[in-house]
Parts: sequence; structure tokens; C-alpha cells
Amino acid sequence: MTEFISLMSQYPWLFILLAFIFSATIGSFLNVVIHRLPVMMKREWQQECNAYLEEYQPELFKKLGKANLEKTIDSYPERYNLIMPASTCPKCGIGIKPWHNVPVLGWVVLGGKCASCKAPIASRYPIVEAFTGITVAAVAWHFGPTWQFATASLLTFGLIAMSGIDLDEMLLPDSLTLPLLWLGLLINYHGLFISLEDALIGAVAGYLSLWSVYWLFKLVTGKEGMGFGDFKLMALFGAWLGWQMLPLIILLSSLVGAVVGILMMVWKSHKRENPIPFGPYIAAAGWIALLWGNDIVNWYLSTL
Ligand SMILES: [Zn+2]
Repeated sequence: MTEFISLMSQYPWLFILLAFIFSATIGSFLNVVIHRLPVMMKREWQQECNAYLEEYQPELFKKLGKANLEKTIDSYPERYNLIMPASTCPKCGIGIKPWHNVPVLGWVVLGGKCASCKAPIASRYPIVEAFTGITVAAVAWHFGPTWQFATASLLTFGLIAMSGIDLDEMLLPDSLTLPLLWLGLLINYHGLFISLEDALIGAVAGYLSLWSVYWLFKLVTGKEGMGFGDFKLMALFGAWLGWQMLPLIILLSSLVGAVVGILMMVWKSHKRENPIPFGPYIAAAGWIALLWGNDIVNWYLSTL
């Protein structure tokens, strides 16, 4: 292991290349997570609703019928998780061959079509793979072969999955935000990125910062501008990067959000009333702060 690390320190470009290839492969799995996790969550909510009805509304439960209520709300097989069943073409149902699963290249070789029935395969699959590869390559370039690299890559994977799900479904799953929040506190126990004290205050302040904006906005306008997942995501970044980075993350996410929002209104005539998920902006801003936050803050302070 130490030999590998010293080899990688000697050849930083090799390390960046390996990081790209490895993480693009993970990106292929992130596509699965983005697609399947919301389905799994909805099934869980359905079961919770049924359990509530059975327990507290037994007459309604009987009237609606146990069999009706337990019918799954989607058309996927009964056993459905991140591993099972194996990926198949949504059109013809034929399994995807391992060599077609090679990130980005598999899609290019197939010309963006299913090998059996020639149904088009969405371009977002290779895009997510390439994006995961590029972002983790940037993490490798920034941190080199260190624990910071290993943990920051893991965070990057989580952020990409969360952003994809939030864009599709307006959901930030607790099963992604919370474990990564705890991980942030754990890795800073010995000060991997910041002191434990800064991490602890950061987690609380991160949550409260957006929580108070949410309530202020709701009291003034009567509308809900954000989801509770956004607070947890901000708490996550407080735990990883410390409370000192929170103003920068909020500023960057509003900036990115404003730019994307304007572009969408211009190009796609996006209606302003349509809600836009805020999670991907926080994720992008926090990721930028993870790599270049200190540089940006120092540059800002030196220009003052
Ligand atoms: Zn097919």
C-alpha cells in the first residue's frame, strides 16, 4: 500500500488517470442509484401508509382491501434494490452485457442504442459516467494519493447521486445525506480537513442557516422555498468543511442557481413558477468549496 502511494506520488498523471477510470465505473453504478433509489423510497412510503391505515384506520383499510393496497405502485419486479435485478433494456428486457457496461465507451460503441432492439439509450448515462470521472480526477489532482482524496471522492459520488435524484424527483434522500453528514464528523475527529470543533459547529450552523431562511420565507410569502433535505445537505458541508465555509457555499449556490435559472428561462422558457431543486446548487457549491474554498476566501480577503 505504501509502495503504491509512493508510486502514485511519483506519477501524478497516472494517479489522475486511474482515478478517472475507477470513478467513471462507479458513475455507472450511480446511474443505477439515481434511477432505483427513488423507486425504493416510494415503495417504502407506500408500506408506511398501509401500516398507518391498518393500525389507525382499520375500517378504511378493510374497505380499500389489503390486496389492492399492497399492489406495488410501479411496474418493476417485486424484489428490487440497488443490486437486484440486473440491468436490462427498458424496451426489450434483454440483459446488458458486461462489455457494454464499460463507462462512456460502451455507450459510444453501441451508438447510443440497445444492442438487441436498437431502442435509444439516454445520453445521460454516459454523461453521468464522464462527469463522475472528471470530478474525481479533479479531486485526485487537488489532493494527490491521500486520505483527503479517498474521503472527498466518496463525498463526490454521494453528491452526484443526490443531485441526480433531486433533479429527477425533487428529493434529497436521507439515506444519502445523513450517513455522509456523520462521516464528515467522524473524519474530522482527528482533523482530516478541519478541527472537530469547527465541524460540529458547522453541522449545526449549516442546518440552522437554511432552516431559518425557510421559515422566514414561509412566514413572509406563505410558500415553501426549500426542502428539509437542503438543510441536511448544508449540515453535511458544515461537518466536512467547518462553519467558516458556510457563507461561501450559500453565496456560490445562489450565484450558480441564479446563472442556471436565467439560462433556463432564456433557452427553455422555463416558467418561473416551476420549482427548481436547490440541492444540486448546494452540492456544486459545496464541492467547489471542498477543493478551492480556502483559495477563494484567501483571494477575497487579500483583495479587500
Ligand atoms: Zn433493447
